[in-house]
Amino acid sequence: MTAITRHGLNAMAVSSPLPKDANVSFEFFPPKTEKMEANLWACVERLAPLGPQYVSVTYGAGGSTRERTHATVTRIRRETDLEPAAHLTCVGATREEIDAVARAYWDEGIKHIVALRGDPVEGIGEAYVPHPGGYAYAEDLVKGLRDIADFEISVAAYPEVHPQAVSAEADLDSLKRKIDAGATRAITQSFFDVEVFLEFVEKCRTAGITVPIVPGILPVTNFKRIRQFSNETGTSVPGWMADLFEGLDDDPDTRKLVAASVAAEQCRVLYANGIKDFHFYTLNRADLTYAICHILGVRPK
Ligand code: FAD
Repeated sequence: MTAITRHGLNAMAVSSPLPKDANVSFEFFPPKTEKMEANLWACVERLAPLGPQYVSVTYGAGGSTRERTHATVTRIRRETDLEPAAHLTCVGATREEIDAVARAYWDEGIKHIVALRGDPVEGIGEAYVPHPGGYAYAEDLVKGLRDIADFEISVAAYPEVHPQAVSAEADLDSLKRKIDAGATRAITQSFFDVEVFLEFVEKCRTAGITVPIVPGILPVTNFKRIRQFSNETGTSVPGWMADLFEGLDDDPDTRKLVAASVAAEQCRVLYANGIKDFHFYTLNRADLTYAICHILGVRPK
């Protein structure tokens, strides 16, 4: 059954046919300890059969995980059939240093970069100061990467506007410049209100941005932490979400079931509105992402 909400949104109920052509990608972070490394590999092995378009590995604030990111991406390249994408940021490094990292990736056969400005080492809310000899913004990094090799380049997008943007228009202009500089895909910050995302896609299309805008899906298991993260990133948390998680602070099992159901519904409604590509922030945990992919019709290949 497909229903139209008051905003013209197609709201798809679980009884509608399973999607057949959804594409997924997964994001991991580089592990700090051997135990975390084992955990990440268990997660990669569980999710790999779902045939993601690519799997990406984040780059810690201020480039703090440079070696670990490189090691993780390289291991994925060498030991799996997955297509790895390396996140790379401008923070705390010269252009030459960043170019050297990018060249090393290219030489390893890693040809997809998620190009980002990055957040200051001191934290998300702190003022950003470009490195004097570095790339200032993601747009500059995209241009630099284009000069190095024919990378596939994804960039970040913000349905609810980047918190440091002068205005929504300026932020959209900045996204357009990143695409015009050679990026081929935008992956969004997580969001919880589907309409916010769909309206953002419409604004991008009106602004002449034609590349895929891929929703970043964050299955929420720790609602308290999400509230904090949302404050920092300017992502709104709808009241209905607070209602759903109310009283579950000490009940992780139920929280997990609720989280899967919320994210699965989000994905199904997005799909019903024409969205076919989904990027999952896995937090190196496979279970929720696997379940949501299953509900999205994505099965082991
Ligand atoms: P930019 O596109 O450079 O924009 C940053 C801000 O500057 C925006 O407000 C923009 O409007 C403004 N701006 C752009 N150009 C100019 C200009 N010329 N003059 C003035 N202002 C300008 N962070 C990490 O540290 N590591 C990661 O691995 C990582 N992965 C991410 C993955 C995704 C999918 C997303 C959405 C975010 C990720 N981040 C990561 C967070 C990201 O680094 C931060 O959100 C950062 O604050 C902005 O990065 P950006 O690439 O969007 O920056």
